[in-house]
Amino acid sequence: MLTYEVYQLKVQQFGFINYIYLIIDKYTKKTAIVDPSWNTVTVFNLLDKLKVEVDAILLTHSHIDHVYMTDALLQRYQNAKVYMSDVECSYYNFFSRNLIRLHDMNMIRIGETNVTCILTPGHTKGSMCYLLEESLFTGDTSFFRRVWDVQGTRCKCL
Ligand SMILES: [Zn+2]
Repeated sequence: MLTYEVYQLKVQQFGFINYIYLIIDKYTKKTAIVDPSWNTVTVFNLLDKLKVEVDAILLTHSHIDHVYMTDALLQRYQNAKVYMSDVECSYYNFFSRNLIRLHDMNMIRIGETNVTCILTPGHTKGSMCYLLEESLFTGDTSFFRRVWDVQGTRCKCL
């Protein structure tokens, strides 16, 4: 049985359409939010309805439509940790309070739920994917067009 539940929220602002994800650890109710973009009130209402608080903010990359709400979240959940790849932070001068800079294959724990952080440069210099037991959060990194084998060489398009 999975140790976590995922909630998807479709949000839009400034002509962008984005998806925000909540990862809630079933046993501890520890909660991570992936790529908090906009619609802060909607997100706060959902968190309140689910009776959870944000413990971790997982950022796949530094584009504004993936990080915009980070400050608002930190004002409400002061101890939440903010995760982004070390490469991304350095290359784009990203900074936030409570920032933890990740390296390829680092592990994060959300309660009883393990998250593997996989560096996937391409969309940005330091894009990072977050892998859970049965979920992969890719941000704007697309896996639809290209498939890579384990050596990292390019395979045929499917
Ligand atoms: Zn992007």
